[in-house]
Amino acid sequence: MRSNALGLMLGSVVAAIMIAGGWFFATSLRADQAAPQAMAAKPASPQPSSSTKLASADSNLTKDDLDITGSLSGKSTAQLAPLPLPVPQKSACANPDALGVARVVEIDTSGGPGFGFEHFKQLDFLTDKEVVLTFDDGPWPGNTPAVLKALDDECTKALFFPIGKHATYHPEILRQVLAQGHTIGAHTWSHANLNSKKMTEQQAKDEVEKGFSAVKLALGAAPSPFFRFPQLQHGPAAMAYLGSRNVAMFSCDLDSFDFRAKDAAQIVNTVMTKLDKQGKGIILMHDFQKHTAEALPTLLGRLKAGGYKVVQMRAKAPLQTLAEYDEGLVKDMKLPTVSARALSNVVQTVAQ
Ligand SMILES: [Zn+2]
Repeated sequence: MRSNALGLMLGSVVAAIMIAGGWFFATSLRADQAAPQAMAAKPASPQPSSSTKLASADSNLTKDDLDITGSLSGKSTAQLAPLPLPVPQKSACANPDALGVARVVEIDTSGGPGFGFEHFKQLDFLTDKEVVLTFDDGPWPGNTPAVLKALDDECTKALFFPIGKHATYHPEILRQVLAQGHTIGAHTWSHANLNSKKMTEQQAKDEVEKGFSAVKLALGAAPSPFFRFPQLQHGPAAMAYLGSRNVAMFSCDLDSFDFRAKDAAQIVNTVMTKLDKQGKGIILMHDFQKHTAEALPTLLGRLKAGGYKVVQMRAKAPLQTLAEYDEGLVKDMKLPTVSARALSNVVQTVAQ
């Protein structure tokens, strides 16, 4: 009898903890969703289609970034809100003719190795007919989930480079990317051009670190130390910094130019034409782009039919984000850092 009573009591305690945890999770999510209004002026711009537009988009983003990173110097004792880790789906592939994953490679990012022959030519690790699928600028409603579905239908895996701000707007979409077993790096906080003359070394560092911290905050887990420069603008100082942080840098072998494609068919044709010529490569696409999401089922089918094989890149170890940026971001977003009480416990309607 006594042990039964004790068991009951223990059970109640466990249940209470679980309920409290649920509240906490719900509050964290609400805070995440409310974040855009609280913290940021506007979403990072979509990929502009001409070089003149690139310059103006950059300057806007840079200004925006300065406002926000300015407050990062203040120290805070805030903690990252704990989020439950998404459980990777390990279900068997339902599609017997799926493209799948032919090979998984693990990358030792010590010293900041570079990948993608458009800029980095030392590490030629793909064999003939091998491709790496990469997607930039997400997470974004509609388009990213469509990309995820197309990849999942073919039981294949990709590498995502989300924009930090976008990760704070749509953390639930980025968590879905992780839950489906894809690799996630980062692509700066606000898509600023790190090679711009106006960009100081400190601002470039802030863009890099805040981008990684934002991805970590959204995921509740550290991202891979994989980074892609916005517009593939490799600033020498930023490259040296990334090297010192042991972050691998990604250019590409093959640019889909999907952000300026007039329709899905054009993306499929661009990628397949270049691929048939080059024979292999890291393919740059954007899960932010609607046409890309529309093109993907066809493109993956064409890859399979053409005898191409997907290689997934993973990091040997996750990135150690810097605490000052993790904390600064939480502070900026006004997440509940001291009290995690549910709204209904704090505010009650007593007359209506
Ligand atoms: Zn980009």
